[in-house]
Amino acid sequence: MFQSRHFSINPVNEGIYALIASEQGGAMSNAGIIDMGGFTLIFDTFNTPQAGRDLREAALHLLAQPIGYVVNSHWHGDHIRGNQCFPGVSVVSSARTRELMQATQPQWLDRMTPLLPQLNEDIAAAAAAVDAEQDEAARQQLTARCSYLLEIRESIETLIVTYPGVTYRNQLWIYGSKRSGRLFSLGRAHTECDSVLHLGGDSILFAGDAVAVNNHPLLEGGDPHDWLSALELLRKLDARIVVPGHGPVSDTRSITSMKQYINDLLAISSPYRSLESKPAAAEIPVPEAYRDWEAAAVFQRNLEFLLDRQL
Ligand SMILES: [Zn+2]
Repeated sequence: MFQSRHFSINPVNEGIYALIASEQGGAMSNAGIIDMGGFTLIFDTFNTPQAGRDLREAALHLLAQPIGYVVNSHWHGDHIRGNQCFPGVSVVSSARTRELMQATQPQWLDRMTPLLPQLNEDIAAAAAAVDAEQDEAARQQLTARCSYLLEIRESIETLIVTYPGVTYRNQLWIYGSKRSGRLFSLGRAHTECDSVLHLGGDSILFAGDAVAVNNHPLLEGGDPHDWLSALELLRKLDARIVVPGHGPVSDTRSITSMKQYINDLLAISSPYRSLESKPAAAEIPVPEAYRDWEAAAVFQRNLEFLLDRQL
């Protein structure tokens, strides 16, 4: 099996692979490799060109056929920054996702490039701290921080922002000789526009960030109520396997628990929203059920977002 520092490869059905981001490495989010029959379909391209390069290599290694299409589920950098590794392949997204990429990605690179000298200093300091640390657990944390910075540096130095060349509004069917897939837009959910891929014949859903497993999902930039409606629609697909944008492969229960999370956060924030002086989000404790979830800092951001807006 193809090995990468960026992800692990999980076969979820014959010719269908969920690529789950490693804790370290430059992937940050999950992706998919699908044998459509005659060509390969790639779902999302990770956070960095180097992870995107391994994604392409893995697809060619696993399926030994041309890559027909690359899909971007939404505009967030951790799902699109490997696009450049697929020259000559049609990258597909919803029209709104393409617009949002154009509105955000060049600015990100413009903002990050001047930070390279500082980043080099940070990397040197992090490496020195690893060498000096005696405690094994602390040393592991510092090593993780150091490799994260190294991945980011490489991505800033090599990124060529690459936009989708094909867009759609509501849905797009992709047909191969083995299977067909329906790529469709949920509209506003995790972002202003999220797409998912449903392989109905296999009962598999690639959900992008509309679903996260054991990870706090980011609410800002989307709409919690619209997201709940979108999740209900996804739940009704009754997929046997759900591949989330973050976290391990799951099933329909992950959709139910995502709904629960959003409802819980709406309930937690609602008594405070009418108050003149609102509590700081940091003062509100993480509910027991979510204490061991990854991306813990996102909980506070989510509360800040919910406390600030009229819902
Ligand atoms: Zn996202």
